[in-house]
Amino acid sequence: MIPAPITTIAKSIEELTASSSVQRAFSFFDSYREEITEEQIRICSIPAPLFDEQKRAEYLLKRFTELGLKDPVIDEEGNCLALRPGRSLSPLLVVSAHLDTVFPAGTDFTVRRMGNRLLAPGISDDGCGLVALIALAQALDAARIATESSILFVGTVGEEGAGNLRGVRYLFSKSEWARRIDSFISFDGGGTDRITNGALGSRRYRVRLRGTGGHSWADFGVTNPIHALGRAVSKLASYPAPKRPRTTFNVGRIEGGSSVNAIPGEATMEVDLRSAGEQELLRLDAFFRRAVREAADDENANRRKDDLPLEINLELIGERPSGETKPDSQIVELAQEATRALGFTPRLDQASTDSNVPISLGLPAITLGGGGTSGNSHTLEEWYDPSDREAGLKRALLVILGIVRLEKP
Ligand SMILES: [Zn+2]
Repeated sequence: MIPAPITTIAKSIEELTASSSVQRAFSFFDSYREEITEEQIRICSIPAPLFDEQKRAEYLLKRFTELGLKDPVIDEEGNCLALRPGRSLSPLLVVSAHLDTVFPAGTDFTVRRMGNRLLAPGISDDGCGLVALIALAQALDAARIATESSILFVGTVGEEGAGNLRGVRYLFSKSEWARRIDSFISFDGGGTDRITNGALGSRRYRVRLRGTGGHSWADFGVTNPIHALGRAVSKLASYPAPKRPRTTFNVGRIEGGSSVNAIPGEATMEVDLRSAGEQELLRLDAFFRRAVREAADDENANRRKDDLPLEINLELIGERPSGETKPDSQIVELAQEATRALGFTPRLDQASTDSNVPISLGLPAITLGGGGTSGNSHTLEEWYDPSDREAGLKRALLVILGIVRLEKP
């Protein structure tokens, strides 16, 4: 995409805002606040644990169908798609949100209200994005907006954790839409000022250490996989992670052992390494793998004579590409102008989202919030406040129409 001069983009946002059809869509968001929130509650009440998003996908398919979108379908990977055709199919814009949550099967997805706040796992991440897809399709329809090019609405599977972006990877590699998509917007969580144009790279590992196990007293000296994991965690925790580029690590899960007085035969941990810089990520990755090896070596060095050493199994369970949609690209400029048009100061940032995949393929892609405010994401205390959500939806509509353009009379 050729970067357009800022003035042209600012002007196009201004013209869009002034157009009567866009004003009709804006009034839709204002008038149907409560209905949009009720829709979000319906979506988030449908359990969508990782790798089990089907019920939520089916609900989205039903809504896409009711909204009159074309060719609604659940693809082989589990993504839910439907097309809103413009005068021509291309350039094709994908507008997406993710169906899955970070929570395991059995989680209580009941939505509670406390004052202005909605509380439920996944209420914001990504209930907010999913309801934005529906509200945007409804507003386009209610305002009878016809566009020059087309919009493909997509609810993706597997954005979170071990899902490893499998839905969006499928969309861009094996789906019938692969190589036909020209730009991409993901709605992920709340907020009205954030524009994620940087794809935060990550590597995720499952480390499994195996020993022979034994009695805590009688077999003392046998290698202890939990002790070794402890040594590895301690080494990792001492890593001097730079602030710039922002680099982080997290041991997110740890398990092993069966009894307080038994030396465990096995222990595992899952680790998330991230950096906004590819070089830093590689450095952290190398440090981490060395830390695991050294931790096992240290544990093995003290083992009882003639006992077997620990067996190390280091499995890469997630790898997300990094990259950037340039701040002066058309899509980022549009998003910035639209943010300003709604009275907010745009903020560019980096995150790990569905946009990582199109960004790594060199396609213009960004992730936006769906309006409102949220907190405690990825915890059971996740909350979302829909106050002024309209501003986020209006911004989203302006960015989308800036790309697919109003149909010329
Ligand atoms: Zn998310």
